Amino acid sequence: MATGAAGLPIEVHCPPAILSFIESVKKEIDSLKNFIVYPPNPTRNLSASLEEVRDMFYMAPVVIWAPELFFSAAVPRMPCPTCKSNSCVVSNGWGDPRPVVDFRQLYWIVAKRYKSRCPGGGTFIGYDPDVMALLPEFVSLQFPCQLTRKGAIDNGLLWRLNNEATSTQSFSGLSASLDEVYKSAYYR
Ligand SMILES: [Zn+2]
Repeated sequence: MATGAAGLPIEVHCPPAILSFIESVKKEIDSLKNFIVYPPNPTRNLSASLEEVRDMFYMAPVVIWAPELFFSAAVPRMPCPTCKSNSCVVSNGWGDPRPVVDFRQLYWIVAKRYKSRCPGGGTFIGYDPDVMALLPEFVSLQFPCQLTRKGAIDNGLLWRLNNEATSTQSFSGLSASLDEVYKSAYYR
């Protein structure tokens, strides 16, 4: 289970169709060309059952945060937040998927977990702030969102909130316009 900022357990409901999509992406991780994975297009799956096709319309992109796989030239192994070297770090499974709020819909982010084998080392997740600070800047800048207690918010949306809500528009106005966009995306 994921933990919040204070280390408290948090409950995030990930729809079964998205969970199984994430599991299929993990199985193909070695052949993925991009760390952002888009779900299959429903119109190319007309032979699937109505239920399967309906699920596809509710699918969402998934961001795989595993810098040693997608930026291996710059990050051959993940650095250790305890001793700062990368020789003690081993892979330790996956964290739970987290929903990311974006302009039109949610997307999901899932990160690998690691274990440090040096004295005092423990387990950590790929987007742990102490680890992100040790990555080359061009790699850490690829992380598309800011984490919140239960999920995350897309950097582009956050930029808009920071700029527009403080200058031209109220928070409640922005909230209402986002709500409108979400409803139009889900009621299509
Ligand atoms: Zn270490």
